Amino acid sequence: MRRVKLKITDRCNLDCRCCWSAAELESGGLPEAGTGDCSPEIVERAIDDAAEAGWDGIILCGGEASLVSECPAYIRRAKDRRLEVMMNTNGAGLTPGLIDELIAAGLDILMVSIYSLDRGLYRDVRGGGRDAFDRVMASAAHLSSRLRRNPGLLDVRIMAVLMKPTLGGLPDLLRFVLEGGFSALSTNYLVGAGNFPDLKLSAEDLRTFRSDVAPRLEAVIDKSDLDEAAKEAGVRAVRSFFARPNVTLENWSDGEYRPDGRADCNCRDRFLLVRPDGTSAPCWGFEFTDDPRYTETMTRANRLPAILAGRRFERFWSSSFDFCRYCPKGFQVWIPARRVPPRRPGADPPAGRGG
Ligand code: SF4
Ligand code: SF4
Repeated sequence: MRRVKLKITDRCNLDCRCCWSAAELESGGLPEAGTGDCSPEIVERAIDDAAEAGWDGIILCGGEASLVSECPAYIRRAKDRRLEVMMNTNGAGLTPGLIDELIAAGLDILMVSIYSLDRGLYRDVRGGGRDAFDRVMASAAHLSSRLRRNPGLLDVRIMAVLMKPTLGGLPDLLRFVLEGGFSALSTNYLVGAGNFPDLKLSAEDLRTFRSDVAPRLEAVIDKSDLDEAAKEAGVRAVRSFFARPNVTLENWSDGEYRPDGRADCNCRDRFLLVRPDGTSAPCWGFEFTDDPRYTETMTRANRLPAILAGRRFERFWSSSFDFCRYCPKGFQVWIPARRVPPRRPGADPPAGRGG
């Protein structure tokens, strides 16, 4: 699957302590935060280029993508060009009306990051004001009730970044996913964990994960109503946490996931990032760090296919890149919860009507 990830805004309604804007990453400075929204011209051009280049889809993200009013129009444009559309959101601004609009526009996959079901912990880790947690939970409840009525409506995945305060709550989050009709729990390791001393997982935390959290995750899967094959897939996923060959417990807890560089990175020719200022970067790591030697600016004359085939990106893939040591790309774990049936647009009554 080849996807262009479009960071359509730097704005956000939360204030996560693990956000790249919250701490300096060791390997090389930060992009300017708060540069605002990507211009519609750039987004539209990127969508057209992705289709022309024969890529499979786009990911709309931010910042917080739902703050961008043009989102439904971007989705429609991408769907008109037969691209799959995924959108990442923290859920804090997902009103029933907006969910309707996104679905009507043709959104395929919605990735909602929740991290924790504990109100106090959520607030501590993600900020966003007194009622952010309630708004996120209300969005999730609304999505869940829609999925119960029409499981094929949308592929909704819940995402969590694994960090010290939230690790023990992962089994509850998995139960929430399974009972809510969501299709997967997706976990990410904390990018640049070494820079977040109170959030990063210690070697002790990882041992606790194996002795306590993993068995509880497996128990949740075992008690669920998944069929046997799905249960086996879930257990396999749980057993793959922190089980990467050649990466020691110390590497994980230091936040250096790739001491040998990008050896097993599979991003090449499968991923492209476009940032709000129109600069394009060859891999996922550029969401969190920067290296102007390897980025290109999109212009009317310099379109994505040319950038992809250009010397800068080629040089990137043949050089070493410090950030790879901290980049957990490819170490994500998905615990599948259900298969999403083919979409049946129109089968879901509009929100607010029909209970
Ligand atoms: S929701 Fe995402 S962009 Fe917003 S503060 Fe949190 S990590 Fe940063
Ligand atoms: S930072 Fe390195 S490991 Fe991460 S996606 Fe980029 S090339 Fe791959």
